[in-house]
Amino acid sequence: KSLGIALVGLGSYSNGQLGPGLLKTKHCHLAGIVTGSPEKVPQWKEKYNIPDKNCYSYEDFDTIEDNKDIDIVYVVLPNAMHADFCIRAAKAGKHVICEKPMAVSVAECDAIINACADANVALGVGYRMQSEPSTDRFKEMIATRKYGKPHVVTADAGYVSRGNPDQWRLDKSLAGGGALLNMGVYAIQGIIYAAQELPISVTAQEFSTDPSYYNDTDETITAQFKFASGTVGSIITSHNAKGDRIFASCENGWIELDKAHSYGVIRGKTSDGTVIDSGPQSQQALQMDDFALHILKGAVNKAPGSMGKRDMIICEAIYESIAQGGKEIMLTLS
Ligand code: NAD
Repeated sequence: KSLGIALVGLGSYSNGQLGPGLLKTKHCHLAGIVTGSPEKVPQWKEKYNIPDKNCYSYEDFDTIEDNKDIDIVYVVLPNAMHADFCIRAAKAGKHVICEKPMAVSVAECDAIINACADANVALGVGYRMQSEPSTDRFKEMIATRKYGKPHVVTADAGYVSRGNPDQWRLDKSLAGGGALLNMGVYAIQGIIYAAQELPISVTAQEFSTDPSYYNDTDETITAQFKFASGTVGSIITSHNAKGDRIFASCENGWIELDKAHSYGVIRGKTSDGTVIDSGPQSQQALQMDDFALHILKGAVNKAPGSMGKRDMIICEAIYESIAQGGKEIMLTLS
C-alpha cells in the first residue's frame, strides 16, 4: 500500500522539494493539495494527477476528514500557522507531518502532540537529515567511537535572506523568530547527533550587522552548550551569513560534514582522509518514505513530535539566555 499525502501550503518548499520528492517515494504519493491560492491548483492537478475532489482551500480543509485518499497531511506553511493546521489535521483523523520548526513555542508543540495522541494518529517533523545516509554515517562514526569520544562539537546553519524585507521569515508574528527558528534548529540537531547526548545547559548571544533590515527577528545568534559527559558544543546561525557545517573534534581525530543540511549531496571528511558522501538523494523522499513505513510497518519514527518539542525547548532557552544577558540556562531534556 502507498499512503496518500496532502500538502498544505504550496510555497517554495512544496513546489521545489516535496512535490518532486513525492514522485520518487515508494510508500507514499501526492494525493491532495490544500492552498489559499486557487490560481496554483490547475498546474498542481496536472503535474501530479490530482483529482478535483482532493483539492482544498484553507476554509474547507476540515472536510478532508471524509477523504479516504488522504492518509497524511503535511503542513508546509509559515511557522506560526503550523499548530492550527496540524491540530485540525489530527482532528480530521489524518496522520501529520509538520515542517520545521515544529511551532513557535513549546506550548504549541504540546498542543500538536496532544491533538495527535488524542486522535491516535502519528506525528512527524520535517527533519529530512534524520533520514539522510551521509548523516547516518557521521552519527555511526561518533556512536562507534571511530575517532574516540567527541570533545568539542560545532555546527553552523545559515543563509543570506536579503532582497525582500516583507518576507514572512522576517516577520515575528508569522515566523515566531528569525535565524534561530529557521536554520538554528539544524545546528541544534547537528550538535546533538555529533555529541550523541542531550545538552544540560546553554548560554547564548545575539548580534546584528544590519538592525534596520533585521528589525523584527534575530539575524545572528551564537550559543554554547554543556553536555553531562564533559563534551562542549557551540552553534552559530544567521539570516545574514551562509553556514552549512557540523564538526566533531574527538579524542583521536575529527569528523566533519561540510555540506551538512543543504539539499542534494551531503558530504564530509575525517582526519584520516575518509570521505563521507552518499551521493545525490532526495532527502525529502527518504524522509516521507520513512514516515510512511512508520505508519505502515511500525518502523521507528525518526523525527517524532517529541524531537520537535525538544528543539523548541532549546530555542526558548536560547532566547531566555539572550534576554538575560547571556546567563547560563539549565536544560532538562528527554
Ligand atoms: P514560502 O513562503 O515559499 O511558502 C509559504 C506558503 O504558505 C505559500 O504558499 C503561501 O501562500 C502560504 N501562506 C499562507 N498564509 C500565509 C501568510 N499569512 N503569509 C505568508 N505565506 C502564507 O515558504 P516555504 O519555504 O515553503 O516554507 C514553509 C515551511 O516549510 C516553513 O515552516 C519552513 O520552515 C519550512 N521549510 C522547511 C525546509 C526543510 O528543509 N525542511 C525547507 C524550506 C522550508
